Amino acid sequence: MATRPSFSEEVSNLLHASHGNPLKTCIQCGTCSGTCPVAEFMDHTPRRLIGMINANMKEEVLESNTYWLCASCFHCTVRCPSEIDIAGLMYGLKRYSIWKHTYSEDAVGPIFSETFVKLILRIGRSYEPVLAPSYIFSYGVREFLNEAQTATNLMLKGRLPVLPPRIKRLENFKKVANRIIPMGGS
Ligand code: SF4
Ligand code: SF4
Repeated sequence: MATRPSFSEEVSNLLHASHGNPLKTCIQCGTCSGTCPVAEFMDHTPRRLIGMINANMKEEVLESNTYWLCASCFHCTVRCPSEIDIAGLMYGLKRYSIWKHTYSEDAVGPIFSETFVKLILRIGRSYEPVLAPSYIFSYGVREFLNEAQTATNLMLKGRLPVLPPRIKRLENFKKVANRIIPMGGS
């Protein structure tokens, strides 16, 4: 009878297309955490998160905000002495969390990610006035007013377009994107 894969095996499967080494090769040196610009805001540093995955601490890993806060700067990936694709891991955990719907309802990251992907599939580019409502209200009234003021100033100075920009050959882009991103976006 087939046995269910452990959590660490499931995560390894998420990374099968990654060029990095397996998470089991992590030597817990902490280089990734030391180089991460947002580590101080994370529940668990990248080093600790990898240790938790290897220890099959599924609930604790999925509950953490670590992978949602990852800014995809790839500093950790290029500096890891074990050549683990840590940034790719963070993407994998985001996909897993959305797939299994393990995130809390008030989490900003999943809504932002979904809005961003749908936007890219619709117009081919990011457009802040559509993206901002997916997260801005969670930072409170003062932050919302600050952001609204900044956006208005940028628009008045022509630094933020009033209407969403569209890329050239959008239909071709949509055909390609819809083949690789199953959520669709037409
Ligand atoms: S830098 Fe690489 S080897 Fe070091 S703790 Fe991070 S993942 Fe593990
Ligand atoms: S890719 Fe993510 S986890 Fe790695 S250093 Fe950048 S923000 Fe931190």
